[in-house]
Amino acid sequence: MSRANYFHRLIAKWRKAPLFQQILIALILGIVTGFAAGSSATLLALPGKLVLQLLGALAPALILTAIIHALMTAQLGDGVSFKIVRLLIMNTLVAISIGLLIANLLQPGLASSLTPPAAQAENTAGNNNPLALFLENIPKSLLGPLGDDGKVIGVIFIAVAFGLALRKERSRPLQHVQDWVELALACFIRILHWIIAVVPLAVFGIVASIIGSQGFSAFKSLGWFVASVLLALALQAAYYLIRIQLCSWVNPVTLLKDTRDALFMAFSTGSSTATMPLTYECLKKTGLREQSASLGALVGANFNNDGTALYEAMAALFIAQMLGMNLGLEHQLMVVLTSVIASVGAAGIPEAGLVTMTLVFGAVGLPTQYIAILLTVDWFLDRCRTAINVMGDINVSCLLDGKIPDSANT
Ligand code: ASP
Repeated sequence: MSRANYFHRLIAKWRKAPLFQQILIALILGIVTGFAAGSSATLLALPGKLVLQLLGALAPALILTAIIHALMTAQLGDGVSFKIVRLLIMNTLVAISIGLLIANLLQPGLASSLTPPAAQAENTAGNNNPLALFLENIPKSLLGPLGDDGKVIGVIFIAVAFGLALRKERSRPLQHVQDWVELALACFIRILHWIIAVVPLAVFGIVASIIGSQGFSAFKSLGWFVASVLLALALQAAYYLIRIQLCSWVNPVTLLKDTRDALFMAFSTGSSTATMPLTYECLKKTGLREQSASLGALVGANFNNDGTALYEAMAALFIAQMLGMNLGLEHQLMVVLTSVIASVGAAGIPEAGLVTMTLVFGAVGLPTQYIAILLTVDWFLDRCRTAINVMGDINVSCLLDGKIPDSANT
């Protein structure tokens, strides 16, 4: 076989391999290269920086479109809309609180340290007034927050205003507005896929550069971080099951059996949107009312991403701990607020949480370049948080169904 032929085959094989395999290979090559090249490997950090810059640039527009689309298309019956909104907010706040509690208690980031970039460290430490932090994020112009500033709260003001306004307009003869938004969303997701394709290269470069300049120490705490996130996600799952036991007619053990296909699919695809039809089917099998099953699965899949919210909050604290930055109460409240928003804006596709995380980091002045460290484990944690996102939708459906089963009325 000629050399060119061999090379083509190799590339074709690489393209067919699943993302997690590509990342694992990149990780190993990065470690070897980092050790071999030493401090000159810092030059390899460039693709990682590029990926993060691109994710950061895409994030505001993606969140904006995802929220507008969710608000325009959500089919909420008047009677249940208040209940479902209350459930969604409550579940997300519980998830973030669990995440912050575990991150504060176990402090996984303290196992190793990183050097903070001087300018950004000053920025975080200098501005401790939560109101000032909040005001800083209010949009100064309509397109401003979508530009280089990428301020999440500003984006949210615009997204909510546009989302609600378009909701009223959507059934006018100008129906194609919805088509345009859907087109925009599909484009953003496609671009995201392109960026994700470069992630293995970014992982290789980042790992080589960090190992070359700082040795293994920066990665020591990652193991702790993964364990802490898994513990927090498990606690969130326990919370769902307890609430289902206490506030609905559904038996949690039977429910787990009935919905395990959806949970496994969420884990294996890393996409709660792709899992949505199966989630709905599983809920119907459990015997939930049509309306509860569809509201939980369909509306929940748009708005409800508790696993993502929990993860983003923990990731922000973890990196702050590694950098030796003390995120006080006001900054942690900002993390809560932006994580709620980021989780609503995260489309139910693989790695969407990584995009919106740039905004959580930006809002509290954490340097987004360190998200690169998380790229190495995100392929796995994404699957775990996606399963919890789906479990959150299942939880909402059961709680909407209430204490009396449908069969009792017939
Ligand atoms: N992959 C997640 C989902 O589909 C979103 C995320 O990346 O957190 O629900």
